[in-house]
Amino acid sequence: MTTPDAISADIDPTTAPGGVRRLTRRIARAGRAALDVILPPLCLSCQTRLPDHDTLCAQCWRRIDFIRPPICDRLGIPMPYDIGETMISAAAAAHPPVFDRARAVARYDGLMREMIHDFKFRDTHHAKRLFGRWLTQCDPIIIEQADFIVPVPLARTRLLSRRFNQAQILANEIAQRSGKPLLPTALTRVRATAHQVGLTRLQRERNVAGAFAVNSFYAPQIAGRAILLVDDVMTTGATASAAAKVLKAAGAQRVDVLVLALVTEI
Ligand SMILES: [Zn+2]
Repeated sequence: MTTPDAISADIDPTTAPGGVRRLTRRIARAGRAALDVILPPLCLSCQTRLPDHDTLCAQCWRRIDFIRPPICDRLGIPMPYDIGETMISAAAAAHPPVFDRARAVARYDGLMREMIHDFKFRDTHHAKRLFGRWLTQCDPIIIEQADFIVPVPLARTRLLSRRFNQAQILANEIAQRSGKPLLPTALTRVRATAHQVGLTRLQRERNVAGAFAVNSFYAPQIAGRAILLVDDVMTTGATASAAAKVLKAAGAQRVDVLVLALVTEI
């Protein structure tokens, strides 16, 4: 068994007793009310004064390239037309992913790219509640059908330099909003991988092959269950497929993937 692979200020909703959860919610509500007085609500991007916290102004909102149906049921990528039934893209047919379905909030461009960059590299987590809201609204069905939420783990060396795993922060937000149990350390990285940026699809697959393992402590819980894997960005799906592969080898009946942003070529 390994130690939890991320540091989060939030209480784990899977382990906190009901009383603690209720108290935490009350303190959070009181804290938010006090925050309104001390810090007026501002747009998370341009700092324009707004009526509510944790959101964007209309102008910044328009800079998010939200992914809307029709989409490929396997990869979550936008499709050019709607035929009124479940569609599989040519990319998914040519290289079927190991995971079952992926869904993304938006394309990895414009303001979403800037916000994720700030979230990952500048230690600014003020957008995590908005990210959590977007993720839970993205496809309520895949969240509803999940038994457990599992973040994609960060390599330990990267965790030490960054001090947090952004996927775990997002997974935690989804768990708190949906009430679905979180298994934060069900997956571990068993070997370091090179950065995926600039690699081809095949190189990415090789780079992440064998990078993950299921923590044996959680294997009995995973067997026969539907897992929702959470990450910040998906490019070719090689990382998600490598993680889904070990979850399925451990007996997971279904592995879906939910990410904030998708790198799309269209
Ligand atoms: Zn704004």
